[in-house]
Amino acid sequence: LGNSRFSTATEPSSKQRNPPRVPNLIGGSFVDSKSSEFIDVINPATQQVVSQLPLTSNEEFKAAVSAAKQAFPAWRNTPVTTRQRIMFKLQQLIRRDIDKLAMNITTEQGKTLKDAHGDVFRGLEVVEHACGMATLQMGEFVPNVSSGIDTYSIREPLGVCAGICPFNFPAMIPLWMFPIAVTCGNTFVLKPSEKDPGASLMLAELAMEAGLPDGVLNIVHGTHNIVNAICDDEDIRAVSFVGSNTAGMHIYSRASAKGKRVQSNMGAKNHAIVLPDASLDATLNALVAAGFGAAGQRCMALSTVVFVGDSKSWEDKLLERAKALKVNSGTEPDADLGPVISKQAKERICKLIQNGVESGARLVLDGRNIVVPGYEHGNFIGPTILSDVTADMECYKEEIFGPVLLCIQADSLDEAINIVNGNKYGNGASIFTSSGVAARKFQTEIEAGQVGINVPIPVPLPFFSFTGSKASFAGDLNFYGKAGVQFYTQIKTVTQQWKGLTSGSGVSLAMPT
Ligand code: NAD
Repeated sequence: LGNSRFSTATEPSSKQRNPPRVPNLIGGSFVDSKSSEFIDVINPATQQVVSQLPLTSNEEFKAAVSAAKQAFPAWRNTPVTTRQRIMFKLQQLIRRDIDKLAMNITTEQGKTLKDAHGDVFRGLEVVEHACGMATLQMGEFVPNVSSGIDTYSIREPLGVCAGICPFNFPAMIPLWMFPIAVTCGNTFVLKPSEKDPGASLMLAELAMEAGLPDGVLNIVHGTHNIVNAICDDEDIRAVSFVGSNTAGMHIYSRASAKGKRVQSNMGAKNHAIVLPDASLDATLNALVAAGFGAAGQRCMALSTVVFVGDSKSWEDKLLERAKALKVNSGTEPDADLGPVISKQAKERICKLIQNGVESGARLVLDGRNIVVPGYEHGNFIGPTILSDVTADMECYKEEIFGPVLLCIQADSLDEAINIVNGNKYGNGASIFTSSGVAARKFQTEIEAGQVGINVPIPVPLPFFSFTGSKASFAGDLNFYGKAGVQFYTQIKTVTQQWKGLTSGSGVSLAMPT
């Protein structure tokens, strides 16, 4: 952002000598935190410090909530058409700055530039969806429920809402949250991931350039303390969370105990079932793309393949295609996958791979010792394939969240479906087959919220909702789509009588029927 009021990494961090401090956004101003505690935002390909993020004080957090609370009355009374127009403008500005946003994402998060564009683009689609808010928030009307009496319901904003984000989609996930929330008339406090806060700040700056009034969107940085403060705050009415199960279940119970609405999207173990009648080439391409894209750090990454019957022999071809992928810094044009987010993440992933080996899985492709020339300090793991995995292995039970594909064998579709349904997560599952009968059986019997048929990563577009289930979701109103609008609005039901009010027919104390 040429005229940015703050500095976010939009160029390789090697050029940045003194890492800038990441400001909070409170009441329309980007302000440096007075906190004395900071954590480094680190480029995962180089280990260079991109910026320093404050552990925001409670006082500063309260100031952000208070700014959101003060902005609410005027914002909720702003015509919906005006709110929509700000979203129209925002989507235009995001398109204008998509390259800068993508570069920031690659610098802080590590994914390839092309993938970073996708991150922004999938969020942009939610902004586009918010442009139609007037029809999305329509109420209902039944005339003459009794003589001369009508009842109607209207959707009203809740007040101050908050969002807590994970590291893996620095643009898309904030955009799942605040555009819908504010266009419904709420005001918002966003806590980006402490690992890659830059995109959230750039998006907020664009939202303000688009005309979002001061205080409607606020940003506070930090980790557990700020999250707990969000859960406990009396003025926050709803919390949107995306991230791991440990954090998500904690937030779900703590915030709901305070009477808040919570939508919590959490971890995953997404399976693909491959039947021998599937199209070989398209299936293998899909498995490789969904298994290793974004270094496996997508909530919809495909982490387990269940080969049914003769399709087991495709494993060798899968291996060839996985081997051909290029691991490099996300800024390099030939990169298929970049680094994982942190040294700790790399260690955890390597431990789970080792655990698989020790419990009897075959390591057919080992990406643990990869060295990327020019980026020797990066947190790289190459594509890794573990075969002959069984459901009791730790590497199968836990979400790996790295470029690791587990292969399991099954003799029949029934057995494969049982394997998938036995896993605690329910984000997504896919089947690859040319049989409509098998696909229909899979769709009916599979216990996952998002189902792909010859499609690897079924992340629904924003006119639907993101519908993870089982341990992958807590709450009852999903992100974006109709459910997203319902989450950020409450219903008021009005009964009105407009008839000859002066000609009373006496008093009756009985329940009206
Ligand atoms: P994370 O849970 O570590 O962090 C998410 C957010 O929660 C961060 O803002 C962090 O500061 C906060 N946090 C972390 N631990 C906390 C704690 N104990 N108490 C309070 N706050 C805490 O998740 P992550 O590593 O950033 O993201 C990866 C995870 O997110 C994976 O499990 C992935 O599957 C999941 N994810 C799910 C979806 C989905 O839609 N289901 C989408 C993207 C990512």
